[in-house]
Amino acid sequence: MDDGFELRGTPGKGEGIFATRPFRVGETVMVGVIDRELDRNHSHASQVGAQRFVLHGGLVPKVNHSCEPNCGIRLNASGAHDYVARAPIAAGHEISFDYAMRNYAVGYFAAYCRCGSHNCRGRITGWQDLPARRKADYEGFVAPYLIEIDHQAARPRPAAETDTGSPPGRAA
Ligand SMILES: [Zn+2]
Repeated sequence: MDDGFELRGTPGKGEGIFATRPFRVGETVMVGVIDRELDRNHSHASQVGAQRFVLHGGLVPKVNHSCEPNCGIRLNASGAHDYVARAPIAAGHEISFDYAMRNYAVGYFAAYCRCGSHNCRGRITGWQDLPARRKADYEGFVAPYLIEIDHQAARPRPAAETDTGSPPGRAA
């Protein structure tokens, strides 16, 4: 049986998931299944809601991070993450996604990112650390709660916190 992907060893990066057939943009590459719920974020946790973290089953957790990924994330009916092609994927190419597409905060990767892409950020970061341009590039390919968290964070601050640049009213 050919799922369209398989686990392979990769030089210098451990294991990765590789396409065994081509995928078109928008095509579902891997279907996510939730293995179990977690009580907190950690290095293998997938954020599937504003305060909900899970472990995915199957080969989904084996997909490596890239700062220029060929897949994005779509929440499926079970609440798990499907990987969807955001660029054409040729047979034999490694399947990748950006950890920032699923986790708002990524605080557990101390090491430098080794994805090797032109757009490499140097470190694996969460959604909160992505530049606005990168967020726009990923539109339609990130977990929806990340956008919701951003909208909440962008609520207008009280006027007292806004620096208007006006001089003090009265000298002492
Ligand atoms: Zn990178």
